[in-house]
Amino acid sequence: MISVVIPIYNEEKNILPMYERLTAVMDKLNLKREYIYVNDGSQDESAVVLEKLAKEHSDVRFIHFSRNFGHQIAVSAGLDYAEGEKVVIIDADGQDPPEVIEDLYLKSLEGYEVVYAQREQRKGESFLKKATAKYFYRILNRITNIDIPVDTGDFRIIDRKVVDELVNMPEQHKFLRGQISWIGFNQTFVTYKRDQRMSGQTGYTYRKMIRFALDGITSFSNWPLKIATLSGFLFAFVGFNLILYTLWSKYYSEGYEPGWASQMITMIFIGGIQLIGIGIIGEYVSRINENIKGRPLYIIKDSNIPHASN
Ligand code: UDP
Ligand code: MG
Repeated sequence: MISVVIPIYNEEKNILPMYERLTAVMDKLNLKREYIYVNDGSQDESAVVLEKLAKEHSDVRFIHFSRNFGHQIAVSAGLDYAEGEKVVIIDADGQDPPEVIEDLYLKSLEGYEVVYAQREQRKGESFLKKATAKYFYRILNRITNIDIPVDTGDFRIIDRKVVDELVNMPEQHKFLRGQISWIGFNQTFVTYKRDQRMSGQTGYTYRKMIRFALDGITSFSNWPLKIATLSGFLFAFVGFNLILYTLWSKYYSEGYEPGWASQMITMIFIGGIQLIGIGIIGEYVSRINENIKGRPLYIIKDSNIPHASN
């Protein structure tokens, strides 16, 4: 059996067309399937649509969260309850065309535990989104010691082995595409053209994107901390030379002028650098704190999966 994990945040109009498209692919491949819809605190009618769908089709499972926990957590919950031998992760809005699952699946049969879908084109997204995504993944690759593939989202097929490892990774701040790279096994990709959203609008605000980017960086790299240390050394060195220069100009040169401007500038500048350094440390410390608290990742309000509802 194959499980399809579909995170849902305000996708009322996309759920049904998506179900039809997915089912057409599964029928074509002649696969036994379950769809796990994780409703991440949608404020529209998504919950109603899902429950109706589940009544009509026995392959539909739904999980309603108690509030919006975020895309990565929604996918993680889906993985927690997926029972298939292979699991597909796909967006609900049609941007990841379900028809590509055929390529993913066939490729995985060649002996790959992970086949991710790499976009060679993106339609209907803002210039800023495309540009930030493009550079973010390239920079991330430079500063981490694992290879996180560029131009890929979470759209992929993964084997049971990988799912079991993922489910056992306890971190609170999920960055699934990075974690999957980290896990290893045989990984490959197929390319596809990313479509426009079928209906509705993106649930990824810039705020969520920034948080997601910081999660990716802090989970897989200590480089920002090193930069803070390095800049500390650099400015200490500059400062030391300034001391020498001041002494020299006071005792040996004619043109010594007690100036406050230069002092203010250095103070503000170094103060700024220090605050940035503290901020970077804060990002890491706050994540340690979250992990120490050990709260559950999500809270389920209701589900038609027997062992998921409480
Ligand atoms: N999503 C979610 N929780 C959120 C935001 C988004 O579960 O807080 C889901 C959304 O329903 C979709 C997928 O995650 O299935 C991708 O989100 P979206 O299309 O809004 O992001 P974009 O494609 O614009 O990056
Ligand atoms: Mg989308």
